[in-house]
Amino acid sequence: MEYTWNTIERHIAACANCPLSGTRQQPVMGRGSREADIMFIAEAPGGEEDRQGIPFVGRSGEILDRLLRDSGLTREEIYITNILKCHPPGNRDPKEEEKAACFPYLKYETFLLKPKIIVCLGRVAAQRIIAPDFKITRQHGTWTCRKDCALTATYHPSAVLRDPSKYETVKKDFCEIVKKREEYA
Ligand code: SF4
Repeated sequence: MEYTWNTIERHIAACANCPLSGTRQQPVMGRGSREADIMFIAEAPGGEEDRQGIPFVGRSGEILDRLLRDSGLTREEIYITNILKCHPPGNRDPKEEEKAACFPYLKYETFLLKPKIIVCLGRVAAQRIIAPDFKITRQHGTWTCRKDCALTATYHPSAVLRDPSKYETVKKDFCEIVKKREEYA
């Protein structure tokens, strides 16, 4: 595949590389600034994202927007995407073969964006991107470096929806992301 944003978008729009192509309403591409220093990666689009074709809309999106606002970030200055570009029915965890089939798109996005900071949202993304044994409860907010990129993870906004007491914890992790960006600027 030629490495341009347009070709990635075209391939994802027509992709049938895993069975989710038969159940999705539409694939959900990454969104945000293509000049962003910070890339957020979650596991997969939810039901509302599937309907609208936009990542992080609906109630999880509202939590994400609040976290961004409270830590001094905006959607316009970040890039946000998912490991899977299509919604798994019933919001189940992505299957290994689905993650393997879709991962090249994430690699192309990362190659084009060249983020200084990658933030995994939730266990599934952290275990795929940072380490297979990553424990989100114990290791959220910790940092690791890979080449010129700093990686961290925090809870997925849907975890905050299920347990609002996590909000302050995730906000603290988001504030650390802003500090890290200043270090890397
Ligand atoms: S999840 Fe990824 S690999 Fe599967 S059909 Fe959608 S875009 Fe293609």
